[in-house]
Amino acid sequence: MATTERIRVGVIGAGGRMGSTVCAAVAADPDVELVAAVDPSYQGLDLRTATGVDADLDVSAGLDALTERGAQVAVDFTELSAGRQNLMYLADAGIHAVVGTTGFDDGDLEEFRAAFTRSNALIAPNFAIGAVLMMRFAEMAAPYFDSAEIIELHHDNKVDAPSGTAMLTLERMAAASGDWSPDPTRTELVSGARGGDGPEGIRVHSVRLRGLVAHQEVLLGTTGQTLSIRHDSIDRTSFMPGVLLAVKQVGDTPGVTVGLDSLLGL
Ligand code: NAP
Repeated sequence: MATTERIRVGVIGAGGRMGSTVCAAVAADPDVELVAAVDPSYQGLDLRTATGVDADLDVSAGLDALTERGAQVAVDFTELSAGRQNLMYLADAGIHAVVGTTGFDDGDLEEFRAAFTRSNALIAPNFAIGAVLMMRFAEMAAPYFDSAEIIELHHDNKVDAPSGTAMLTLERMAAASGDWSPDPTRTELVSGARGGDGPEGIRVHSVRLRGLVAHQEVLLGTTGQTLSIRHDSIDRTSFMPGVLLAVKQVGDTPGVTVGLDSLLGL
């Protein structure tokens, strides 16, 4: 992708919590240009009225606005079923995708890998640099500990559980070590008290609480010691440097990439 010209960016889910923050970040970055905002719930409104973002743009109902306005990269922060459809549209249209929507499984990723032949996709369950490092540290620590549990905490409107960040952390820790102590629990007085049974038996607990944004703690234990690795996104702007980095690099990152690690040199 030419770096001398501003990258033309469309945002899908533009009226949402993350989408509106992305619109503001794109509009404020001199290297990129916000050319389309898509969100059926806000159809007919201008972006200023819909989100407060200072950009002279109408919100469109359909994805066709992306092709009509020549978007080179589309950023998707919607929800699982919409995200699935949106990604297939982008692959078909040859538009690069930067995807923050969470909940995709291995089958989805396989389909995306087959579909993205004319453009690239970068899918990251967490665009915050601290969260990327948290996952890396947890993966590094895993072989040195006997037990591990993940507690993820999010705002009270989150519709999927566990979070995409927790799922990716679990998968990476399980790939780094399959040698975990068995769960000693014999009786559970309240169903689910021990959380969800993740890969290699690593437990995950999802907290939903008004006032939170996105938080995760990875707890590891071995004889006589514990290690806690915690990350807190206290504001949605925490995700924006990672989103903008992905927007600028996705054109030079062939195929479908999961996670920001390679872009950060990790
Ligand atoms: P949100 O506030 O509900 O925003 C989602 C927006 O997408 C809503 O305005 C929704 O409209 C719209 N939408 C739904 N279907 C659509 C479609 N087909 N086309 C266009 N727009 C559509 O949710 P959020 O808190 O912003 O989170 C969005 C996603 O990002 C979730 O999957 C969340 O887990 C994820 N997330 C990722 C990161 C990361 O760093 N990767 C960080 C935070 C959140 P309606 O309200 O009418 O449905």
